[in-house]
Amino acid sequence: MIFNCLVPGMNGMPDDVTIGLETHIQLDTDSKLFCGCPASLSEEPNTHTCPTCLGMPGSKPRTNAAVIEHAVRAALALNCDLNDTIRFSRKTYFYPDMAKNFQITQYEIPVGEDGAITTRLRGQEQTIRIKRLHIEEDPARIVHKGGDIDSSAYTLVDYDRAGIPLLEIVTKPDFSSPAEARAFLQKLTRIMSYLGIYDPRSDLSIKSDANISLEGGERVEVKNITGTKGIENALNYEITRQRNLRKRGQSIERQTRSYSSAQQITTALRSKEAEEEYGYIFEPDLTEVVIDAELRHDAQKNIPELPDEKRRRFQEEYDITAEMVDALITSPAIADVFETLSDEFDDHMIGSFLTKELKKTLNYNEMSFADAAVDHDDLRVLFSYLADDKLTDRNAEELIREMVATGTDPATIIEEDDLLKDEEGLAEYVSSVIEEEQEAVEDYQTGDDDAINYLVGQIMQRSGGKVDPREAREQLEAELD
Ligand SMILES: [Zn+2]
Repeated sequence: MIFNCLVPGMNGMPDDVTIGLETHIQLDTDSKLFCGCPASLSEEPNTHTCPTCLGMPGSKPRTNAAVIEHAVRAALALNCDLNDTIRFSRKTYFYPDMAKNFQITQYEIPVGEDGAITTRLRGQEQTIRIKRLHIEEDPARIVHKGGDIDSSAYTLVDYDRAGIPLLEIVTKPDFSSPAEARAFLQKLTRIMSYLGIYDPRSDLSIKSDANISLEGGERVEVKNITGTKGIENALNYEITRQRNLRKRGQSIERQTRSYSSAQQITTALRSKEAEEEYGYIFEPDLTEVVIDAELRHDAQKNIPELPDEKRRRFQEEYDITAEMVDALITSPAIADVFETLSDEFDDHMIGSFLTKELKKTLNYNEMSFADAAVDHDDLRVLFSYLADDKLTDRNAEELIREMVATGTDPATIIEEDDLLKDEEGLAEYVSSVIEEEQEAVEDYQTGDDDAINYLVGQIMQRSGGKVDPREAREQLEAELD
């Protein structure tokens, strides 16, 4: 079912909240937007810089063509209308993170407008309208040493970040709860990582400003919200703050607030500027960029199968649950492994392993699948052992942990760590445990059913996980009943 923003109550929240988002996503490019400096922070601050990104007089920006292509692809994936000709503008303000005293952005003519994407929250679909998508440069990084802006003794500026390309995606005010906003950011970042233009490893590379209003109240902008979980926390706090003001009979003023993720609160920054106060002018050092038919065509051609299409196709083609499909498509790389190996193995067996054991291990190591030195062939070997019943679930987990942590091939780890199932040894483990654990055996035989779990645990421990717990239990029961 598709329903629009006016339908309330999806999260049990009263239907008087209206939220719109402006989200900045850091594009994954080699070089910065208007110069050739690396688009990454370095260990030594202020080393990925040049006269252009330091805003030296006389330096001239030049547009990175890869950024334009990424932005066109993103706009198409978000179903936006493309503008034929785009222009960059100067947004003027005075702050130490902006050496030029202006930021190069797009104001009058963005790359794309009037798009929409579908999000899902607890099985319900929602259409979120995209007002515009444009390119801008990131300002420098400000570090308040030993505290925040009020409490720190001094502040440092790192211009490595100045000029890193960002996409800004502005939604219509289509959210009526923090959970809906979070679902949108999750979907947005998933689409961007499918496009290969966003690195999902760093939650820091997505930042949002949110406009929140309660019915009848003024609009409050909350700036500086990092990540997808952060948006939900920040909005929850701000909505509660506004409701409490109202309960006390106070009015909600139009203002800009800042979110502190450490304290999980918002604090007043200033009364809000209108956009026109930034004094936008077209950037005279840059020519207009034409989005011609060839660029559109190439960008369209480079859009891979996106998450929604993949979900539909997986549901049709594979005999696995909807939950497993959802878990698989969170990573296009893991979905790809599943597709490659599904001809050779049971869909449910490999789907379950990829979405549980593999993902758990990657999360633990804070890695994406691409970071791990594990490929399709390594997983094929692991699945062959599982399919031939040569590996217990416990040792399969042990194996994938080793593979991800060390990059060693599975056959070597199995050999060195002696992980294969010990079929012959099972009877021996069972009889020795029965002999040595007389107390638990007696408990079991006098009606304490839980005692068998202890005995199975003992067998697992003595075998080093090389016997199957289900088989161990069966043998124990056969011996003791
Ligand atoms: Zn530079």
